[in-house]
Amino acid sequence: MKPLSFFLSFAVLIASLGKAAANDKPTLCQGNYHSEADAVAQLKRLAATHSNQEEWKARAAAVREQILVGAKLSPLPKRTPLNSIIKNKRQYNGYTVETAAFEARPGFFVYGNLYRPLGHKGKRPGVLCPHGHFRGEEGARQRPSQQHRCATLARMGAVVFSYDMIGFGDSKHLGWDHNHSQALTLQTWSSIRAVDFLESIPQVDSKRIGVTGCSGGGTQAFLLTAVDDRVTVSVPVVMVSANFFGGCDCESGMPIHKTKKLETNNAEIAALATPRPLKLISVGGDWTKNTPKVEYPFIRSIYKYFGAESKVENSHFPKEDHGYQESKRQAMYPFMVKHLGLNPDGVLNKKTGVFDESKNTIEKPATMRTFDTIAEMPDHALKPGAIVSLR
Ligand SMILES: [Zn+2]
Repeated sequence: MKPLSFFLSFAVLIASLGKAAANDKPTLCQGNYHSEADAVAQLKRLAATHSNQEEWKARAAAVREQILVGAKLSPLPKRTPLNSIIKNKRQYNGYTVETAAFEARPGFFVYGNLYRPLGHKGKRPGVLCPHGHFRGEEGARQRPSQQHRCATLARMGAVVFSYDMIGFGDSKHLGWDHNHSQALTLQTWSSIRAVDFLESIPQVDSKRIGVTGCSGGGTQAFLLTAVDDRVTVSVPVVMVSANFFGGCDCESGMPIHKTKKLETNNAEIAALATPRPLKLISVGGDWTKNTPKVEYPFIRSIYKYFGAESKVENSHFPKEDHGYQESKRQAMYPFMVKHLGLNPDGVLNKKTGVFDESKNTIEKPATMRTFDTIAEMPDHALKPGAIVSLR
């Protein structure tokens, strides 16, 4: 080979390696990654990958695997001791609230509140409540709408755990920032461990575990439901969209949606709930405005493979905006009552169909806090911002 042609071959080789490296760069689908029209076209491509229950199960397994690999959770980290801390019980009308924390990984704490029913016998269903990106001192799990949601479910017999995202609530108070390179990994793993935490409570029936959250908490709800079969009822609120992928790195900052092998979107990820009960709550004022005619029919067509159309619902509020306001909570409660076997006596007005929230007590953020300072925490607690070892 002449020197020049050798050089050219070498240059071509380097260029192609460089191109391959560029192609290997993960594709992130973030925010409005698709136009509405592109999203509809993608759903058609996704729907064409299966035509019966078996084909869907294979597809669902591939999507689930991509989520776990993309989120750096494959294989799943070891389940280390939760070392749960439950304290400061407050008694209210028909329920109690405690502050609660556990270690999702050694030294990495998840902070929250545990709402428990009073006067309900036997094993109780458990419900997880992630909160979404509602900032401020009375945002996140401290905001009144979230406290109402948890208290009302508890008064109907559920044991409810309401827990912080990284860098919100107590996590923020103790110095953690939401802008953390492992946010998606840690929040998804923390949700899985939150199911473990519920199951560790003797009162909880591990066969009845629900999850509901809105916005970024909706993302946490459908990601958990997708990767953890122990969730038996799922109600993601104002988040399941085929064209919008979540605007925060904790939702879409890792390659869970698109690789060389497989493309998916949040409507298909939500469909991984099939055939478990799933309710989509959507509004006209955000990226869920097309749910009744786009995402819901797509998901419902998969429930049909299982003869389970009765287990999937959509409540749509065309004139409402983003959030988990009372109208949306009123749409969630009967679904949880029906599928978790809650008892609405004393809460549901059977004449009007309204679930009474007026007996709930809204606590101040300081009352809800697990630890005031890091000095109060166990010595091995990780320092704020630390990278958490997963292996
Ligand atoms: Zn986030």
